[in-house]
Amino acid sequence: MTLVECMRLLELPDSATVEEIKRAYRRLAQQLHPDKKKGDPQAQLQFIEVSKAYRMLVNAARACRQGKPVGTCRDCGDFGEVSIGLDGHPRCGRCIFHPAGGHLLPLPVFVVVKCTITIVLLAVGVYLLVVGTANDSKAYGIAAACAGMLGLVSLAITCLSIVQCIHPRDRARQSK
Ligand SMILES: [Zn+2]
Repeated sequence: MTLVECMRLLELPDSATVEEIKRAYRRLAQQLHPDKKKGDPQAQLQFIEVSKAYRMLVNAARACRQGKPVGTCRDCGDFGEVSIGLDGHPRCGRCIFHPAGGHLLPLPVFVVVKCTITIVLLAVGVYLLVVGTANDSKAYGIAAACAGMLGLVSLAITCLSIVQCIHPRDRARQSK
């Protein structure tokens, strides 16, 4: 049984704190306890598996700090403290800054596209402003203001999408 399978068995997401692992185990152990499920061999087998998975996880997480999410790194496969990237996958401290693909942060493609659009719009705005100031041209000034406004709107949308990306995940974690 791999540690990823252990997490699945305890009905946990890809990463969880040791506290969350304990809570999940207690809940399942109560449901499956042989005293409660007398004469149910399936439940007995499940109880043994869940207990084994719990012991494996707690052993593997021994060196981890309290309150830190632990899990299996998506890139290198090491089990330990992990951070969740914006793509929702857990990575260890080493891989979070050097994920497969070479980006600094594991961003979903659409966020990268939106960031690029924002940067281009703001750059165009600045360029038009500089040219407009040099030529003392009103048309350039108006164009610069438009590009600048579009850039800010694009920036706001990008920020909101990143917040939305993180928020439901945190809520899901808290409700567990
Ligand atoms: Zn890693």
